[in-house]
Amino acid sequence: MKVFSTSKELRDALADTRGIRGLVPTMGALHEGHKSLVTRCREECDTVVVSIFVNPTQFNDPLDLKNYPRDVEADLRLLEDAGANFVYIPEVEDIYPEPDTRVFDFGQVGRVMEGAHRPGHFNGVAQVVTRLFDIVQCDRAYFGEKDFQQVAVIRRMVAQQGYGIGIVECPIIREPDGLALSSRNLLLTPQHHAAASLIYKALREAAGAKGTMSVAGLHDRVVNEINGNPLLEVEYFSIVNAETLEEISAWSDAETVRGCIAVRAGKIRLIDNIELST
Ligand code: AMP
Repeated sequence: MKVFSTSKELRDALADTRGIRGLVPTMGALHEGHKSLVTRCREECDTVVVSIFVNPTQFNDPLDLKNYPRDVEADLRLLEDAGANFVYIPEVEDIYPEPDTRVFDFGQVGRVMEGAHRPGHFNGVAQVVTRLFDIVQCDRAYFGEKDFQQVAVIRRMVAQQGYGIGIVECPIIREPDGLALSSRNLLLTPQHHAAASLIYKALREAAGAKGTMSVAGLHDRVVNEINGNPLLEVEYFSIVNAETLEEISAWSDAETVRGCIAVRAGKIRLIDNIELST
């Protein structure tokens, strides 16, 4: 496994590789969720490239950026173990030699949910992902379903920009109590961490009850259950058409349905989602 801090060194090393090239973009503080993406990439590609970059342009909250967990040594151990070939850990100047002023428009999929609650977030995601795609010139890129809307935005971006890159979506990896793994879980107090298991519990129950309740009824049940814990506060719970991310009002409105949620657990914001197709 080789580690690079500049795009030039990485590009030179990649020039000597053959076969299918896969990319796993991350922001570090890696866990088993990230590892599952790298493992899948290892299985499907000849060359596995992983980037670790806490991208400032996708943070709408400066405190979130400042407090974002970082542990490069542990990350490198995990990546070595998962079979990565190249790890790219750039400084901000290497990704953005000049400020990136590009403005993307992903329509509906970029405007709702995270797009509405984190202004500029997906624009920043698109800025960094296009930069990484241009540097790495990958054939496939691996993303987690944990960030369900992000995958939709990236698929849209790939279509808009004409990238010939296959987007591979990987399932959500969870803690034993059901909480979706996230680097931000490290920042939860033990009390908030324990409370946060209620998020997936409520989503799972919703998936079980969807046939018996209206969309609005199921929505309110999930929100009330989570808000019933004083340590948690639902920011949004949206039951959407999984393709367009438009909210549905009846189960027959969409063939595939997803329930997407954002919850505040103290100072930390958590997201999760579940399939709700009937
Ligand atoms: P991040 O480092 O949070 O930007 O995440 C890098 C990639 O890992 C993204 O594609 C995420 O969707 C994915 N990821 C994060 N957490 C999980 C998880 N619990 N299960 C599966 N994939 C995940």
